[in-house]
Amino acid sequence: MSRLYDAVVIGGGPGGSTVATFLARAGRRVVLLEREKFPRFHVGESLLPFSLPIFERLGVAENVRSAGFQVKRGAYFWNEETGGIQPVDFATGIDDRHPSAYQVKRADFDHLLLSHAAESGAEIREETAVARVVFDGTRAVGVVARPRGGAEEEIRARVVVDASGQDALLSRQLGTRRFDRRLKRGALFAHYDGIRWPEDQRPGDILLPIDRGVWYWIIPFSDASCSVGAVFEPSLVRTGAGEKASLEERFDWLLARSARMTSILAGSRRTSRVFGISDYSTSSARAAGEGWALVG
Ligand SMILES: Cc1cc2nc3c(=O)[nH]c(=O)nc-3n(C[C@H](O)[C@H](O)[C@H](O)COP(=O)(O)OP(=O)(O)OC[C@H]3O[C@@H](n4cnc5c(N)ncnc54)[C@H](O)[C@@H]3O)c2cc1C
Repeated sequence: MSRLYDAVVIGGGPGGSTVATFLARAGRRVVLLEREKFPRFHVGESLLPFSLPIFERLGVAENVRSAGFQVKRGAYFWNEETGGIQPVDFATGIDDRHPSAYQVKRADFDHLLLSHAAESGAEIREETAVARVVFDGTRAVGVVARPRGGAEEEIRARVVVDASGQDALLSRQLGTRRFDRRLKRGALFAHYDGIRWPEDQRPGDILLPIDRGVWYWIIPFSDASCSVGAVFEPSLVRTGAGEKASLEERFDWLLARSARMTSILAGSRRTSRVFGISDYSTSSARAAGEGWALVG
């Protein structure tokens, strides 16, 4: 058994690295366990201005500014059924102190935040998957983790913070995870090169066409590549593209269904595999208990 930490954090996404940085900067002994080796691909690439004050508090704002991420000043929605449009300009939003945010490749962004957590004094162990949280009665006292290719180890801490994202490790273990039936959705997404930005659109904005029950995103990055995604009700795609269709075929079917997406993507090239995620709208009946908290 290893030494006692003040906190063990499960997961090195933005939630986990934020907690680890705050605690380390407050002088606490923190270990963060991340299953993957960073940098790694992740969905969630279009930030909102409210994240900027958090970067300031983390002491990472200058690193984010100088990393060269695409500056995002707003969004543009199309409702293809009604012909309605809705431009969004952060400069005239609720909080006009932050007129912009960033479009980020999460591989780079999450790596930057995790490195900052390490520089702030948190111990980071990548390629280390947590199997379960250890309880003494009702109190969380640590985790059982396994480094890739290594043996299981128990790591003890005063507080366990679960920031495992979609994996929802602790709420699954406790049986407190809930699915939101109204938001039963799937999403498919990939990266593209060679998208010619529509001339009537402001560079850097996220573009969001909504077309017969499907909403699409186009997120431009600073290297001229883009993230393209679609969010949909799963039965629509099963019926339309076929039960046996691959993720690529389903994504192509969804994109071809939208005249605007077809027009914007003309001449472009997919540069990543197609990623898929479903049933991702969940919550937990409890967010914290004795010696544990959920974050993210
Ligand atoms: C379709 C879709 C589109 C989205 N678009 C946006 C967007 O445009 N903008 C935006 O701000 N947000 C977006 N989001 C939300 C965004 O992805 C999440 O809010 C964000 O990633 C949450 O960060 P997190 O740190 O809580 O979790 P994550 O970023 O998921 O990080 C969790 C980490 O925990 C690790 N982990 C998991 N299990 C274990 C384990 N057992 N042991 C060790 N490590 C583990 C994982 O490897 C991962 O690195 C989107 C989400 C979806 C589903």
